[in-house]
Amino acid sequence: MKKPTYFSKKNNANRDKGNTQNRVSNFSDRPRGKKQDYAKVNGGVFVYSKPISVGELSKAINVPTPAIIKFLFMQGKAVTINQILDDEMIGTVCLEFGYDFKKEEIVDATHFENLEIEDDPKDLVERPAVVTVMGHVDHGKTTLIDAIRSSHIVDTEAGGISQAIGAYQKEIHGKKITFIDTPGHAAFAEMRARGASVTDIVILIVAADDGVMPQTIEAIGHAKAAGVPMIVAINKMDKPGANPRRVKEELLQHEVVLEEYGGDVMSVEISAKKKEGIDDLLDMVLLKAEMLELKANPNRFAMGTVLEANLDKGEGPKATLLVQNGTLQSTDYVVVGEIYGKIRRMSNEFRQVLKVATPSTPVSVIGLSGVPNAGDRFMAFPTEKEAREIAEKRALEKKAQTQAGSAAMSLNDLNNLINAGKITDINCVVKADTDGSAQALKASLEKLSNDKVRVKVLLAQAGAISESDILLASASHAIIFGFNVRPDARVRAKAEEEHVELRLHRIIYELLDEMEDAMKGMVKAELVEKVTGQAEVRHLYKVSKVGTIAGSYVTSGVIKSGSKVRVLRDGVIVYEGALASLKRFKDDAKEVKEGYECGFTIENFNDIKEGDIVEGYEMVEKE
Ligand code: GDP
Repeated sequence: MKKPTYFSKKNNANRDKGNTQNRVSNFSDRPRGKKQDYAKVNGGVFVYSKPISVGELSKAINVPTPAIIKFLFMQGKAVTINQILDDEMIGTVCLEFGYDFKKEEIVDATHFENLEIEDDPKDLVERPAVVTVMGHVDHGKTTLIDAIRSSHIVDTEAGGISQAIGAYQKEIHGKKITFIDTPGHAAFAEMRARGASVTDIVILIVAADDGVMPQTIEAIGHAKAAGVPMIVAINKMDKPGANPRRVKEELLQHEVVLEEYGGDVMSVEISAKKKEGIDDLLDMVLLKAEMLELKANPNRFAMGTVLEANLDKGEGPKATLLVQNGTLQSTDYVVVGEIYGKIRRMSNEFRQVLKVATPSTPVSVIGLSGVPNAGDRFMAFPTEKEAREIAEKRALEKKAQTQAGSAAMSLNDLNNLINAGKITDINCVVKADTDGSAQALKASLEKLSNDKVRVKVLLAQAGAISESDILLASASHAIIFGFNVRPDARVRAKAEEEHVELRLHRIIYELLDEMEDAMKGMVKAELVEKVTGQAEVRHLYKVSKVGTIAGSYVTSGVIKSGSKVRVLRDGVIVYEGALASLKRFKDDAKEVKEGYECGFTIENFNDIKEGDIVEGYEMVEKE
């Protein structure tokens, strides 16, 4: 794919004309999502979107065709009026006749997640680092986040009460740092799973009295997999049992080499509870950020990631967006997933209304037409038309994909596979009050998977349980888990009609326990033996080629063709195997019931004797 120069200041003649003041509001390079090609003169600059013919160029720059042909001929290039000129020829012609030129490629922004945008280095300015705190449970993530945040609230001029919007900024020494609020690697992993990388630096918190624990190791793994540098915060230094040396050595075992061991990982000893060492930690973050040379171009349309989203009773869908590049304006239209909307209000964590949000700024926005997913990428557009068109196109594509997907995995296939014991899937739909809890539940539920049963969360979203959720669940034999949401009567009725199970919870652990129980039910039950019947051998017939046929009388139950059997002689098992054939008189029989005579042979066993008891049995699932 060609680099969309369209997005950047590259080739932009305007810049050379000194038109660069007020860059934040000058969005001349914002993507327009135009679909029609164009070639026109604009303020002395010939602007075009694709190579054009001599005739077209002549019209656009108002120079007679013969003059252009003659000029090109003098350059050693013989062209005709209808010939399409390449970019180089267009450029030389423009310069010759006194025009600057600029090619703007028309970029299809439908899949803006995949756009490779190259900013002119001149447009790049420093941006705040985005930091996530990770570590083992109880090692002090929340306490540290609170410690940083509360010092921030004291610092802030606004002095307002901060509101959980999933992220916040802290300013120290005149530089900002953006903290992502949701602690733990589940959120981090979930974002990454969605292809979003928002974090520049991970603060790995390890309790000095506990050392490296399983989730510490997981967090290290996540940070390494994402290629995000870590800063180690050794916490709880106030505790008597604090042993930072042990922590450092344990980290070394997991290839986290601290500076004092010759590595490049900075570490600091802190007490989150006593708010000691926090400033040193923040200084380190700033230092690391400087080393990373984090930059962005504020002078173009905003792109970024949804950190959190929920349905606010009064205000409707509410999302925390992290602007990662460009500048988001409070007048923009935003597309995320298949939804779009005009920003109705954009605010920071102090509920202060913002007009613009520059790179690395987290903002809370209302105005979207639906609740997006955490981890989804968003892009801002200047007009409703563009935003709507792109959102609609994306919705259509998604629909087509979903349809193709459901056709590809039919329920029959799935059931066959399950029956064959190849896979056992439990499909779930998760609806929760916030997207954060939905994603956390999704991760926890899927973690319950074991080698026999796989838990698949088809959808994890903020919002009430809807009729379309019921349909999705019905089509995919899924259970719906509602967390802090309740279906209305209509949805309940629909669920009953579709035989969809609704499980409503307010406590995460209860929900997970219930799932675990459900899984126990679905895990292939232990097989137990069930005797179907017994037969007594009364006469033996030796038949060459066939072997010994046992003429028998069914004394109880039923003997089934192909059945597993064991041969008992005086109450002792002398052989276990399966019936090779079962006949009633001369005919093959499917089964022979109590009180009837039959003849059978046993696979690989000819040593049967008169008076033997042959017991038929099958393996059934234990209740
Ligand atoms: P999280 O699970 O990682 O978010 O851990 P929390 O922040 O909830 O902390 C777990 C427990 O450790 C809480 O009881 C905290 O008060 C305590 N704690 C956190 N930081 C410190 C610290 O620096 N010193 C001491 N003594 N206790 C701490």
